[in-house]
Amino acid sequence: MPTYQYACNACEHEFEAFQSFSDASLTQCPECKGEIRKVFSAVGVVFKGSGFYKTDSAKKTTSEPAKTTPAAAPTPAAAPTPAAKAD
Ligand SMILES: [Zn+2]
Repeated sequence: MPTYQYACNACEHEFEAFQSFSDASLTQCPECKGEIRKVFSAVGVVFKGSGFYKTDSAKKTTSEPAKTTPAAAPTPAAAPTPAAKAD
């Protein structure tokens, strides 16, 4: 259920409303019946714009090579797997 935040243009009353997508948007302030506007929370934007994770990934590039490099071992998986005997 999405949460919409509203703010009243008349009295600046702010409130959240839980609405389904099929519900009509609210247009009236529950306090003064004035005109309200939708307020989109900036929480998600703040996280995306902080960019702290960028420095984190930059550090990783200078760290020791990943251990994911496989040793030079023969890979038997290259051989075709024989299908089950049709018997
Ligand atoms: Zn109001």
